[in-house]
Amino acid sequence: MAQLDLQSKLAILADAAKYDASCASSGSSRRDSRGGKGLGSTEGMGICHAYAPDGRCISLLKILLTNSCIFDCAYCINRKSSNVRRARFTIEEVVRLTLEFYKRNYIEGLFLSSGIIRSSNYTMEQLVEVARSLREEHDFRGYIHLKTIPDADPELLSQAGLFADRVSINIELPTESGLQRLAPEKDGGRIESAMRDTRAAIDDGADAKSKYKSAPLYAPAGQSTQMIVGADTASDGDIIVRASALYDRFRLRRVYYSAFSPIPDASAVLPLKRPPLMREHRLYQSDWLMRFYGFKPAEVAGAADASGMLPLDIDPKLAWALKFRESFPVDVNRAPKEQLLRVPGLGTKAVDRILSSRRWRNLRLADVARLTLSIAKVRPFITTADWIPTLMTDRADLKALVAPRQQQLELFAA
Ligand code: SF4
Repeated sequence: MAQLDLQSKLAILADAAKYDASCASSGSSRRDSRGGKGLGSTEGMGICHAYAPDGRCISLLKILLTNSCIFDCAYCINRKSSNVRRARFTIEEVVRLTLEFYKRNYIEGLFLSSGIIRSSNYTMEQLVEVARSLREEHDFRGYIHLKTIPDADPELLSQAGLFADRVSINIELPTESGLQRLAPEKDGGRIESAMRDTRAAIDDGADAKSKYKSAPLYAPAGQSTQMIVGADTASDGDIIVRASALYDRFRLRRVYYSAFSPIPDASAVLPLKRPPLMREHRLYQSDWLMRFYGFKPAEVAGAADASGMLPLDIDPKLAWALKFRESFPVDVNRAPKEQLLRVPGLGTKAVDRILSSRRWRNLRLADVARLTLSIAKVRPFITTADWIPTLMTDRADLKALVAPRQQQLELFAA
């Protein structure tokens, strides 16, 4: 590997880290101001944003320790057979960069991942050593997110959680068959086993902390994972069911979706085109339906078409409501919270406000209109003291009445 200065390494290894979605925002259209055109960019790399356990949005230095790798995952720009420029930070360089950026107020933490060099254990030791040095030698109190290597020794994985706020292990692909075809050196069983061990360590750590004040915190921001969407034939229904099982079994904080993007000199087994960015966005919305709106995975998957794909032109909650019209209209003055949460256009805050307001008086359509961005979207699915949507849910053109126009534009922009 050619000798590179720190600046060049940073350019390469921050760029290589941008494919990791674990702290990226989803659904934005890609804009770029490089080359002096305009101001601001959603395509940049190097600093990403994440949410701390207390809900604050924080900036993280997002880099790889190295983009060299002994594995050859077909979808990855850093795979062994890829013709990219390689670079590698030393442990001291990552520590120094983090501290300098932190002192200059550019960042509040570090997101560190890596290709696999020499062996999984060797690489994991290096990642842990960065976090250890920051915490123990420099008393670094900022946020640390470490991407861990599932094949590494469980003892190393367990050390990662002692120094990092969050640890994550990429599940990579939604199905085992996809993993075998596109990343044959990875083992789905090992990945899940590492997630199981991490969950147990997080639970034990929380338990010990509740009993002994001096017990160390273990990954207090929990564990997360990332799934690549569109590189294999898994449908949205497959992805939703898989994500839900991961949440349940390993109590993940987040499943991140990363739309597959074609890479230079890609393997012939990969699709030529990236999936629409809107697909990633719809999957995040499905995720929210399961986590905050009480939908079961099979219900969200029920909003998909016969091929298991969610519609791109409307959100999955509206798609579900249009498909299961017999569940509507919902009486906003009497229905339980679970039913109100199913109404398209009513978010969790609006539902909470409906529940508290209706204790004092009967709500009218105008009251609900004040709580939502689009009463036109909500109206066919509710009854109020002064409104009954006579036969509206039977109308063949209901979708055209309630589908937002700008989403059509987003679809073509994707
Ligand atoms: S192990 Fe990670 S870095 Fe290496 S090729 Fe696979 S996905 Fe890329």
